[in-house]
Amino acid sequence: STKEWQQADAAHFLHPFTDFAALAKKGSRIITDANNIYLHDSDGNKILDAMSGLWCVNVGYGQKALVDAAARQMQELPFYNAFFQTATPPSIELAELLAEVTPPQFQHVFFTSSGSEGNDTIVRMVRRYWDVLGQPERQVIIGRHNGYHGSTMAGASLGGMSGMHAQGGLPIPNITHIEQPHWFELGGDQSREDFGLTAARWLEEKILAVGPERVAAFIGEPIQGAGGVIVPPTTYWPEIQRICDKYGILLVSDEVICGFGRTGEWFGCETVGSRPDLMTFAKGVTSGYIPLGGVMVGERIAKVLIEQGGEFNHGFTYSGHPVACAVALANIGLIRQLNLVSHVKHNVGPYLAQQFAELAEHPLVGETQTCGLMGAVQLVKDKAKRQMFDSALEVGMVCRGHCFGNGLIMRAVGDRMIIAPPLVITRPQVDEMMALIRRCLDLTLADVQA
Ligand code: PLP
Repeated sequence: STKEWQQADAAHFLHPFTDFAALAKKGSRIITDANNIYLHDSDGNKILDAMSGLWCVNVGYGQKALVDAAARQMQELPFYNAFFQTATPPSIELAELLAEVTPPQFQHVFFTSSGSEGNDTIVRMVRRYWDVLGQPERQVIIGRHNGYHGSTMAGASLGGMSGMHAQGGLPIPNITHIEQPHWFELGGDQSREDFGLTAARWLEEKILAVGPERVAAFIGEPIQGAGGVIVPPTTYWPEIQRICDKYGILLVSDEVICGFGRTGEWFGCETVGSRPDLMTFAKGVTSGYIPLGGVMVGERIAKVLIEQGGEFNHGFTYSGHPVACAVALANIGLIRQLNLVSHVKHNVGPYLAQQFAELAEHPLVGETQTCGLMGAVQLVKDKAKRQMFDSALEVGMVCRGHCFGNGLIMRAVGDRMIIAPPLVITRPQVDEMMALIRRCLDLTLADVQA
């Protein structure tokens, strides 16, 4: 029963990013099964999952092709590693397929099991690259406040979540941050476009402050996800690219959320107009059905590491896990078969944008933003003055509570409500989701006014 599960859960399971004591008091919601974009809990409730799990179930739940691929591969060869000059057919086939679907500068991949491991790999690979080129002083990697790049020591250091840095003595040395391109909070009187240039030039200021000869790379998510779906002004990424090129600094695109169709192109860098040297991926590569991540390595770096690098002393037991790779092959096959990237770009993405633009009229909403199938609703106290609520009121958490109670999974980042539904969502399902969002905003408004 739900109660028994909750008791056992509270007694033994330390959940990620969770206040353990609060959870024990409240009890977890137990998700038992799912289909398409809907979850079911142990009390029989149906819930529309507007977050694709954790931004990952791109093809939706219950896709038999992925299940069959896993079962077949488990029977044939459940595991073999990629160390000591061995490989398995699915890992080779996936490497080849990734080279095909990623931008042309990417012909090589290094596999991991998660996005965090991917970003740890980035740190070591970037530093190795400069070492091999005889510039070992290029150690510094620049990330952004409120960026999220994972929970390992290096991943959490690259990210700019102050709550994470406060625990465990982070960031590790030689990682520093600039502000995020968040016009609503930081733009002041500037137009979005002007602010995009201003925000990008914070990178140049940081490079000059550190010393260009010490800077190895800049890392960013094309659209900051966990930071609150911050869609940057269109001027931002082209200017970042120009600055990286000017100083010869490597550009890393963390595509863990934005990859595999989320933004309406295969990868977010294609949507925002950057040409990264390295790309981290995870989540959508298998639609979350099984853990897999990795780093796409651009030819500028691959050439140096292959021709001059010797042994790269780095890797994981599960790098290129055959079952995970088989599922990824089936998943990418399905994304292609269902034309999901085009579905996002030409059909449900623009439809969601239109619905979110209308939502901006709501008295509680300061701005809405979308990019493909990512969306954010900024809750504000005063629309005209762009004035936020007192953070102690936790209005975002109040709204999230109403979503939970009304059969909708929507995430709160402070007072910013965010969504990233499965890419298979249809227009009628977008309508259903919007009706739920409106109802929850109305309930939250009533609470705020009470
Ligand atoms: N990078 C980004 C942009 C993410 O959103 C995440 C996870 O949410 C990660 C990296 C970390 O990935 P993982 O949780 O698979 O380690």
